[in-house]
Amino acid sequence: TDDLARAEALIRTIPDYPEPGVQFRDITPLLADAAALSTVIDALIDPFAGEFDVVAGIEARGFLLAGAVATRADVGLVPIRKAGKLPRPAASVAYSLEYGSATIEVHDDIAPGTRVLLVDDVLATGGTLRAAHELMPRIGGSVVGTAVLLELLALGGRALVPDVRTVFTV
Ligand code: IMP
Repeated sequence: TDDLARAEALIRTIPDYPEPGVQFRDITPLLADAAALSTVIDALIDPFAGEFDVVAGIEARGFLLAGAVATRADVGLVPIRKAGKLPRPAASVAYSLEYGSATIEVHDDIAPGTRVLLVDDVLATGGTLRAAHELMPRIGGSVVGTAVLLELLALGGRALVPDVRTVFTV
């Protein structure tokens, strides 16, 4: 639609950030625009409407979208955080990055069988979202889908996250 095309045009590309050779996709101009933000929140929810009881957002930019998704879909929000940030982590999953590794953690605040929609801003290699998939069953959550704003097709992350629905691709 025109609204989606207008929102997509608000994603800014920053060359050589955070390091030389990387094209960073910056969604902050889109977030700052009321109509664009509203449009993409609807687009994130649409494929999964009525199918989830809680949204799990991934630190840090995933939180920005997950909060808006939760309020519009009238569901709760579970933050998935980088290791060491939560006071009472109930589960953690370590995963490898291009250089080194990372760990994500979560609290245990949902009932067994809760249907979870994972939300993040960008799908790159897919490692983060795959780790989030592993994390949810450990707190009793059942992942019903993954909603991402922007997929970086060249990195092939979809292979690790087959259930992903993306609003935009580049
Ligand atoms: P992955 O685990 O390689 O898929 O990396 C995904 C994570 O890196 C997401 O949480 C994104 O927030 C972040 N990320 C990777 N590339 C970009 C980018 O170009 N813009 C914004 N975030 C990015």
